[in-house]
Amino acid sequence: MDEILNPFAIAQAQLDEAAAVLQLDPDMHSFLRRPMREFHFTIPVRMDDGRVRTFQGFRVQYNDARGPAKGGIRFHPDETIDTVRALAAWMTWKTAVADVPLGGGKGGVICNPREMSQGELERLSRGYMRSISRYIGLTKDVPAPDVHTNPQIMAWMLDEHEMLQGHHEPGAITGKPLQLRGSAGRSPATAMGGLFAIREAAKLFDVELAGTTCAMQGYGNVGSFAHRLGHDRFGLKVVAVSDEFSGIYNENGLDPDVVAKHQRRTGRLADCPDTEALSNAELLELDVSILIPAAIENQLTGQNADNVKARVVAELANGPTTPEADKIFREKGTYIIPDFLCNAGGVTVSYFEMVQNAYQFYWEESLVQERLDYKMTTAFHAVDKMAKARGVDNRVAAYLVAVNRVAEAVRLRGWV
Ligand code: NAD
Repeated sequence: MDEILNPFAIAQAQLDEAAAVLQLDPDMHSFLRRPMREFHFTIPVRMDDGRVRTFQGFRVQYNDARGPAKGGIRFHPDETIDTVRALAAWMTWKTAVADVPLGGGKGGVICNPREMSQGELERLSRGYMRSISRYIGLTKDVPAPDVHTNPQIMAWMLDEHEMLQGHHEPGAITGKPLQLRGSAGRSPATAMGGLFAIREAAKLFDVELAGTTCAMQGYGNVGSFAHRLGHDRFGLKVVAVSDEFSGIYNENGLDPDVVAKHQRRTGRLADCPDTEALSNAELLELDVSILIPAAIENQLTGQNADNVKARVVAELANGPTTPEADKIFREKGTYIIPDFLCNAGGVTVSYFEMVQNAYQFYWEESLVQERLDYKMTTAFHAVDKMAKARGVDNRVAAYLVAVNRVAEAVRLRGWV
């Protein structure tokens, strides 16, 4: 049988497994398997050549029992409604495991931002908001950046939303630039949160992180900060990193300053000084202690999981591991820090951003990091405790913690 690679089918299969362990009420299970609301819309955009191109946009509000839906917006040529549904489901479990008072949502547009000018991207971002503004906002659904969207895109979207609503509402979007009332420490938050989780895992194994070898796939917002902070704050020896084109390797460790400078200059990692080339496939199978997927879904599959040598896989990306690979990792004893726990730092600081916007009172980065550390450490140990108590792996344990919390909110509201 072919391996399941549809992200939403994977998200549902993961929930099904947790529901079986929890002996979840079948009516609750059926309710939690599907998004509560979704929006499909067209976005006509005047392109630089004068023609109008129509893009397809989505926003999924998966579950808002614990608070307003929360989740990023992706601009990606391979975006599908099932990817958005899966990511919205994972946001629901992520906000629950991080215990922030929010639900789960996600958005996306099928487009290739690499082929679009800044003007076209601005008109697309504003068009997205014109379609969805009435359904989002501080008390309904709060977007943020994700793959190929960034603080500038959030600024255009916030401006369009506030113009349409006729008032300031900074907490309606997070991941904003600092000057538009973003939070200090938001950009590095996902990577930082993941590193706090890795630090806690290392304590369980009584391993010193300084000098521990590590390979990272993906060198965007999350991957590049994971390299920089892993190296500077925890002394990790990052021997390989990659982008969508290729990877680079140095057995003595890669200097984040050199890699960042090269990437800024050329837009790629290939041919970075003092490195050897390697493919993304080779990177995933390197003999390192920690592997950090920080790119896209379905990178660790039934085809390559057997060859993965890392003892710990810390999933900063969403959905990098298929259920088939999960089975193999379980048999091999690979320690997984599952995605919606490992990368919960981003949404946690987004929540801090909403709190600061509500109070119009802003925190120093050191305070943001201290509070992020507390939230990530608490979430990590809640999952570890559940894994030990129920004799399950970390992914199932993270689901047990999250699904229990969401189901309780749904029950208390009287929906099921
Ligand atoms: P990004 O667009 O900034 O970077 C993505 C990186 O992945 C780029 O280096 C790109 O070249 C690389 N990449 C793309 N396709 C690839 C492929 N097929 N093989 C190898 N590399 C590939 O995105 P990001 O914000 O860094 O997000 C990375 C992952 O982390 C995504 O799964 C995202 O959903 C997840 N995530 C991001 C945040 C956040 O705060 N940005 C929060 C939680 C989870």
